Amino acid sequence: MRPPSRRSLTLQRSLMALVLVPVLGLVSVVGVVVDQRRDVSVAAESAAVQVRAAVLLDTVRGSVAQEVVPVLAQSVLSEPTTASALGLDASSIAGIAALAGPAITQQLHSVQTATDEAVTATTGTPAAAEATAAARTVAALRKSATTGGDATATFDSYRQVVADLTGQVDAHLDAARDQSLDGPGARAVADLDRAQEATTYASLEVPLYLGSVSLDPATAADARSSFLQAWGGYRAADADLTAHGSADAVTGWRTATTGDAGKQVDEITNAAALSGTALSLPQFFTLTTANTARNAAIRGAVVEIGDRAVAATSRPARRAAEDLRHLLLAALVLLVVTASVMVVVHRFIARPLHRLAAQAEAVRDGELLDVAEGGPREVRTVARGLAATVASLRRVRAQAQAVADGEITSDLVREPLAGSLGAVVHASITQMISAIHERERLQASMAHQASHDALTELPNRAEALVLIERALHRSARHDQPVGLLFVDLDHFKQVNDSYGHAAGDELLRVVSARMEATVRGGDAVCRLGGDEFVVVVEPAEDHRQLVELGERLIAAVSAPVLLGDRTARVGASIGVAVSGAQTSSERLLQEADAAAYRAKGSGRGVVEVFDDELRRELSAQAETEEALREALLGGELVLHYQPVLDLATGGTAGVEALVRWNRPGHGLVPPDEFIPTAERSDLICDIGRWALGRALDQLTWWDTAGGELAGLTVAVNISGRHLAARYLLDDVADALARSGIDPSRLTLEITETVLVDEPTALDQLTALRQFGVRIAIDDFGTGYTSIGQLPRLPVDVLKIDRSFVSTPGEGHADLVRLVISAAHSFHLGVVAEGIEEDGQLQSLIDASCDSGQGFLFARPVDAADLALPRREVSPSPPFAGAR
Ligand code: C2E
Ligand code: CA
Ligand code: CA
Repeated sequence: MRPPSRRSLTLQRSLMALVLVPVLGLVSVVGVVVDQRRDVSVAAESAAVQVRAAVLLDTVRGSVAQEVVPVLAQSVLSEPTTASALGLDASSIAGIAALAGPAITQQLHSVQTATDEAVTATTGTPAAAEATAAARTVAALRKSATTGGDATATFDSYRQVVADLTGQVDAHLDAARDQSLDGPGARAVADLDRAQEATTYASLEVPLYLGSVSLDPATAADARSSFLQAWGGYRAADADLTAHGSADAVTGWRTATTGDAGKQVDEITNAAALSGTALSLPQFFTLTTANTARNAAIRGAVVEIGDRAVAATSRPARRAAEDLRHLLLAALVLLVVTASVMVVVHRFIARPLHRLAAQAEAVRDGELLDVAEGGPREVRTVARGLAATVASLRRVRAQAQAVADGEITSDLVREPLAGSLGAVVHASITQMISAIHERERLQASMAHQASHDALTELPNRAEALVLIERALHRSARHDQPVGLLFVDLDHFKQVNDSYGHAAGDELLRVVSARMEATVRGGDAVCRLGGDEFVVVVEPAEDHRQLVELGERLIAAVSAPVLLGDRTARVGASIGVAVSGAQTSSERLLQEADAAAYRAKGSGRGVVEVFDDELRRELSAQAETEEALREALLGGELVLHYQPVLDLATGGTAGVEALVRWNRPGHGLVPPDEFIPTAERSDLICDIGRWALGRALDQLTWWDTAGGELAGLTVAVNISGRHLAARYLLDDVADALARSGIDPSRLTLEITETVLVDEPTALDQLTALRQFGVRIAIDDFGTGYTSIGQLPRLPVDVLKIDRSFVSTPGEGHADLVRLVISAAHSFHLGVVAEGIEEDGQLQSLIDASCDSGQGFLFARPVDAADLALPRREVSPSPPFAGAR
């Protein structure tokens, strides 16, 4: 799995960048604007400060200018010369002084107080220093006025102070103008400037007039020209203000200057300026009083104008501050909105996407989790797609799991899966399931094959035992016995021999079907092998019922069978056994078999029931078998050897090994008495193995001993059961290997009936011959082998049965001659058994029989007693034909 690229940007960071870039831009723009606004605000603020300073200083100036009037009034009252200069007589002055003195003192006091207050008001403003300096000068003047100083000098000094203050006021206004005022600000400052000028003239008009009339002639002349300047200046300034001032300023100004006091002052000063008429004392007081009132009104107007100027000049600062507030508020709102948008984007886009990515990774890692749906439509679409994928993967997994759990029949695995992947998976699951079904079918059929006979489809021997076992279990529970019929076909071998194996098979099929049709539904017909069958009857009512069934079976089997265009006929011998309390399946089969055996012996085509006699026989057999088993281990079995003579030379070529049981208390028991018992079980194979080893060891012994017994061949009898066993090959090979005897010196004798009965016998014999071992057909003539079959049989030697040799008569002699010549034409050697008489020998010699065996030459004897007979054989008469 590829790790995510380290350089890849997460959605979160991209969104953050998307939001932060404009936010940073906004912040810097706001910064610039704030800076600019602050400059504007600072400029406006300082302009306002300057205007306020000008206003305050102007108030000081106006107040100082007013102080001159009562000072002059006092000096008039206190100086008789001054009064006379004014045309006032001394007596009336004293009266007036008595009358007006306190008023003037009062006026002076209030004007001085106003000056002091105006000075104090400048504290903390740029005008403070100038006001304080002026106040100091004024304080000195006040002192000199009260101490009766020179009025003219005082007056000049006052004028100087006022002129200085006037210049300073102008300087402050200029400083305000320097702060690049806006329209309203500039207009307000211009109003103030004009009002200032007019006020300055107005405040000087009356003092200068009074100065011109009350002072010494030199000073008075100067004062008069100054008065005329002030008078003219006031009118020009008044006209200028009225013409160019703003409406508010003009209205305020006019109200202040055209009141009663203003009119009185104008009347007197106009007359004084135009005609130069002398001032009467009442006029003097009227003028000073009116002047004070007018100046107070003017002052009020100027203060108003000044306040407006301050307001107008500081307005940009307020506006800037307000703008700033708005701007910051807007920026704040914008930031809040941005943050909210970010939160929303994070919550509704980034988070669902992040979750989806995590889920996609989990799915990639094979975790089939529930995919949550959320976020914007596109994300939901992807989530739905992923959820659908997970769902179909889950179904794939569920189906695969079901297959793995073997639940291949569940509906789940049959449901088709979505998409092309689903189609492929479903196809492979279907394929897998059908493969499983096929395997199960094969297994079932194999199981069927293992438990059933391929030819007749009936249960085979193993299955028969299972069925009997089950029936016995049920019978034990229900206390009802199980019946077993052992059916052994009669004359089946003849059919096989005469019509061929295919016909034999067909007959078996027909007969099986007939038996199945004869029994009840619950009863089972099984084929044990060859022409042996059993019928399991459950429950078995009584012996009679079973015997009747047996008879019906015999009738069914015995009916003619059509094989192609020919008709064949077989019969059956049946043994019946019924289970007892402790009967095992093997035992029940054995009992039925024993009964069938007796049926066969008692003339075939009959039903025999297992009875006490058979029981005794069986138990004797069982005893014998047990004893024989021990005998084999205990070394009670011995081999006797009977010489086989070469009839052409009369010498002994080999011996046949024949088993004897040296049974304690019984003497030497002949094989006929125990071999049939041994053949009922694998014990016969153990005996065969023992005989093989024993006989070959004996050859080795003789070879080693030397003499006439060295180099003999040996024939060992092998039973059908042993021949059918796979391990016969190993047994023979082991015996050969252990003894070191050449295989060609060993002949295995197989009775003719075995060759016909055992289908695998021929293959086994072929394999044995490939070892180099020779095979002889024993007891030839007792079975049903036709001479025509000989070339197909893997054999080397034919042993003609004793009965043919011993039975007298020309017919038999002819038959023997025929067999011998047939065998020779198929390159088989012939041994004649049971030769007891010379005549028999001679006719065999005449028939060109190769070898002979019989009491005539020697009886079978213990190895120690073996001596090899020799016989002079007469040459064959010329007519007998040479071999
Ligand atoms: P068989 O293979 O046909 O053996 C020949 C039998 O004929 C022997 O009987 C032998 O003693 C007997 N015999 C030989 N010459 C004469 C004679 O001139 N006149 C008469 N009347 N009998 C003669 P035995 O030894 O009693 O064996 C009987 C059968 O037992 C054998 O018949 C063979 O089928 C079987 N048998 C013997 N030994 C073995 C063995 O080791 N294994 C197996 N499977 N069967 C054996
Ligand atoms: Ca034999
Ligand atoms: Ca024989």
